[in-house]
Amino acid sequence: MTTAQILNKARDEKRTVLTEIEAKQILGKAGINCTPTVLADTKEQAIAISEQIGYPVVLKVSSVDITHKSDAGGVKVNLKNGEAVARAYDEIISSCRNYAPEANIEGVAVQKMARPGTEIIMGMIKDPSFGPVVMFGLGGVLVEVLKDVSFRIVPIEKADAEDMTREIQGRKLLEGYRGQEPADVPCLQDMLVKLSDFVDRTPGIEEIDMNPVFAYSDGAVVVDARIILS
Ligand code: ADP
Ligand code: MG
Repeated sequence: MTTAQILNKARDEKRTVLTEIEAKQILGKAGINCTPTVLADTKEQAIAISEQIGYPVVLKVSSVDITHKSDAGGVKVNLKNGEAVARAYDEIISSCRNYAPEANIEGVAVQKMARPGTEIIMGMIKDPSFGPVVMFGLGGVLVEVLKDVSFRIVPIEKADAEDMTREIQGRKLLEGYRGQEPADVPCLQDMLVKLSDFVDRTPGIEEIDMNPVFAYSDGAVVVDARIILS
């Protein structure tokens, strides 16, 4: 499906929340590297998809009613074989049914387990006075506790993205820390520009949250994404 078709389908269904699968498809078309993610609606299908993707895999609940998937027991990482996938599938479904009995669960998203990297967050929010702004920060406690993030008004150019990665307090962590490999900062800047370009040419997007993005010394990958429509 094209980006317009994905957005129209959601609007037809009166949804403002896209699934992670839809969000990654759209961001992928905008040139942003995301983990390949495929929907399974049975356990058998989850195993078949896992074999195709290659182990280890991650399973996540797919439901527009559950946006914080881990809170619902809806994420199982590092699954190494079919048996583990089957068990994870059942655990995710039963845990999420318990957590949110009213939730409409469309199935489970199967994706490649990304190797660990420096955790980054990127996103877009709408500022009441400035309109869409893109955001960049380091993931985990740094963003949650210290709010160590930088913002720019859309549209941005490469030089703005360079400023954004330079402005955060924790910028030294991008250079590598305690055995963590350095981050491919130019790749992160390129992702920010692509995010801004996408937002600039696509009306009706209220919010984008890519959390986390794993950064490596060569490249970066989005492992979780959420898009909210206006
Ligand atoms: P939530 O909806 O709770 O934010 P996430 O999709 O972010 O769910 O998953 C929770 C955590 O699981 C992530 O912060 C990340 O550490 C890990 N994770 C998720 N997807 C992957 C993946 N494809 N590869 C490796 N780790 C992952
Ligand atoms: Mg997340």
